[in-house]
Amino acid sequence: PPRIRRLEESVVNRIAAGEVIQRPSSAVKELVENSIDAGASTVSVTVKDGGLKLIQVSDDGHGIRCEDLPILCERHTTSKLSAYEDLQTIKSMGFRGEALASMTYVGHVTVTTITEGQLHGYRVSYRDGVMENDPKPCAAVKGTQVMVENLFYNMVARRKTLQNSNDDYPKIVDFISRFAVHHINVNFSCRKHGANRADVHSGSTSSRLDAIRNVYGASVVRDLMEIQVSDENAVDEIFKMDGFISNANYVAKKTTMILFINDRLVDCTSLKRATEFVYSAILPQASKPFIYMSINLPPEHVDVNIHPTKKEVSLLNQERIIEKIKDAIEEKLMNCNNTRIFQTQA
Ligand code: ADP
Ligand code: MG
Repeated sequence: PPRIRRLEESVVNRIAAGEVIQRPSSAVKELVENSIDAGASTVSVTVKDGGLKLIQVSDDGHGIRCEDLPILCERHTTSKLSAYEDLQTIKSMGFRGEALASMTYVGHVTVTTITEGQLHGYRVSYRDGVMENDPKPCAAVKGTQVMVENLFYNMVARRKTLQNSNDDYPKIVDFISRFAVHHINVNFSCRKHGANRADVHSGSTSSRLDAIRNVYGASVVRDLMEIQVSDENAVDEIFKMDGFISNANYVAKKTTMILFINDRLVDCTSLKRATEFVYSAILPQASKPFIYMSINLPPEHVDVNIHPTKKEVSLLNQERIIEKIKDAIEEKLMNCNNTRIFQTQA
């Protein structure tokens, strides 16, 4: 039989990095989540070549201490988690301490950061988890800027596939749009490198509908209804959902489903399917819905740690929660459908 050998650490790290950072848009998601975790009120994203040449995310968050810079991009270094048990109550989006490290294994990362009360910031570049040079003092405004260049320069197949497929920029715009609808007090912008106009510019607002209008346009907002479901009295199934869903006048070929569970942007295929099912059963024309939902559950009912990209979470009592939400949507749609028929008759 062939001999079994231990893989070199650099190989292990690069393989793992390719799972966390699957494409340019996943790098953008991680960086934007870091900015939100840092308490930023402005997050600006610039992208060149669909993210393969350059991804730059700047925020005005709390910054990173100079003395932490040497281990910033090592694997499993984080300010957000210390004991495994913390995972049960964790509020931040990050906790693995893997995102920045991963980016340094598949791209070139440069961080510029300044913390409050400092006269100057620091800039430092990383490769394969380690600093390439001592942090250089530099001028900086509040917060942190992370620049990722030449993503997947060392993963030939990945880079080729990405170059040949449609570029990731629309996905990046989509992510930022979703974040902007949820984090309405953060001013997000996203643009292509060198472009004067931003493709997303959310502004900072106190109204969810304003945020949706700024990102998805006034025509979407016109056809939205507010929806709320709460089940706080149930003994073992405490959850709250609030959001906006499209009414009978909304027309679109594709479903837009923006779902946050305990403030994490996630996908939930079964909830999406259930929702589409209700719409197609009640509304005569074949329009797909626009849905924004924010679901809040006790943190111990959500397992955030089932996937390295944290894209899927698993919920306790998932089926009953979906059933409740489905009922609420059904009721809303029935009402609006009746009103609509009534209006056209009158
Ligand atoms: P995680 O978010 O899981 O902790 P990351 O690799 O994404 O892991 O980031 C590592 C650490 O670097 C974070 O815990 C945080 O302390 C710091 N950090 C990363 N990005 C920023 C940022 N934009 N502003 C302030 N601190 C940051
Ligand atoms: Mg992170």
